Amino acid sequence: MSGPDPEWEVLVIGAGPAGTAAAMHLQKNGISTCLCDKAAFPRPKSCGGLLEEQAFRAVEHTSPGSFIARYSEVDVCMPHGPCRQVEAATILIDRTRFDGDRLRYCQNQGVTIREGAVAVAVWQEKDQLITSFRDGRDIRSRAVIAADGSGSLIRKGLQLPPCAMAITLQAEIPTGPDTLRRPLIRFFADNPGYGWIFPGRTMLNVGVYSLHNRGVNTLFQNFLKTNSLPPCSGKGSFVLLRRGSAPAGSGRILLAGDAAGLANPLTGGGIQAALYSGRAAAAALLQTGAAQPLPHYEALLARLTERSFHRLSFARQFYQSAHQHQTYQGCLAALKRKKAVRPRGSY
Ligand SMILES: Cc1cc2nc3c(=O)[nH]c(=O)nc-3n(C[C@H](O)[C@H](O)[C@H](O)COP(=O)(O)OP(=O)(O)OC[C@H]3O[C@@H](n4cnc5c(N)ncnc54)[C@H](O)[C@@H]3O)c2cc1C
Repeated sequence: MSGPDPEWEVLVIGAGPAGTAAAMHLQKNGISTCLCDKAAFPRPKSCGGLLEEQAFRAVEHTSPGSFIARYSEVDVCMPHGPCRQVEAATILIDRTRFDGDRLRYCQNQGVTIREGAVAVAVWQEKDQLITSFRDGRDIRSRAVIAADGSGSLIRKGLQLPPCAMAITLQAEIPTGPDTLRRPLIRFFADNPGYGWIFPGRTMLNVGVYSLHNRGVNTLFQNFLKTNSLPPCSGKGSFVLLRRGSAPAGSGRILLAGDAAGLANPLTGGGIQAALYSGRAAAAALLQTGAAQPLPHYEALLARLTERSFHRLSFARQFYQSAHQHQTYQGCLAALKRKKAVRPRGSY
């Protein structure tokens, strides 16, 4: 990268999976990197913690201590069908541990870490970016990767087209002796969403996800009842969902993970996309010397979103037709026949 020396080549904001993936890749390639997060780690994170085994194995630092279990099948219940086992090699992780371990790994690799640092805005001055923090301090860098999650302040400051939004409610319930043997997913009949129960070490991780933001608490309580679980209150979060190929940043500010709206609209699952996009943002900066990284970054993101399941339009069609199908695979096959699953490159 060229030009006068700023404090850091790259500032990464947010130390979730996207931010740590970016920082690891930059540091490994000799780029001076500062990784900041508003929280002190380990910090709690609302998450089911389930991801594809293939994605988990590809991670630069998997945090072995965060591993809870491996499954080869998931129980999937369609709205009007029986529950069936669907083949899916998945890994269940403890997100608090996963994120905390990855942050310490970055630190051990030489990344400068700033915890308790709330970034509020980024602006450009000559060829440097200046990020201001709530405590009044600024950091100068050549480029910024904003991986500050679904509530991204940096995204708001860029005034990009709005994302769609999904909502989740989640809780942890102590497990009994008859613990679930594998993750369970139940699609709803009257709502574009699903409920999940994932067996943790000592707790069941239970939640609902919906593309509608009304009546989610009722949905959650009904889901608990259907599965013979005691009523409890859930913690609410929202998930940004990118529309079409909306920009994933501006100039030398690249948005990664949930801040870019990259979670899968069908499930709200976003760990895999966060890991991929964090690394892709770092790769784009490395490739372009931070000159014009955005087109390069968006080309890398297209590889993620061209996966047919990874589109909002697909998720909507799935939920519109789920009640007509007895099996998950049957629903997917019908959508394929209707060409809801479009060819590569379309969105
Ligand atoms: C209830 C729930 C269940 C989920 N279950 C799953 C699942 O089972 N599988 C799956 O793949 N995905 C799941 N997801 C989605 C997944 O958690 C996210 O997609 C993933 O965490 C995105 O990673 P990220 O790095 O982009 O953002 P995050 O993990 O959200 O990290 C963002 C970081 O930025 C920091 N930050 C925020 N604002 C600022 C600021 N202004 N300055 C500095 N730091 C800041 C935060 O403290 C945080 O550490 C779930 C989400 C929810 C809400």
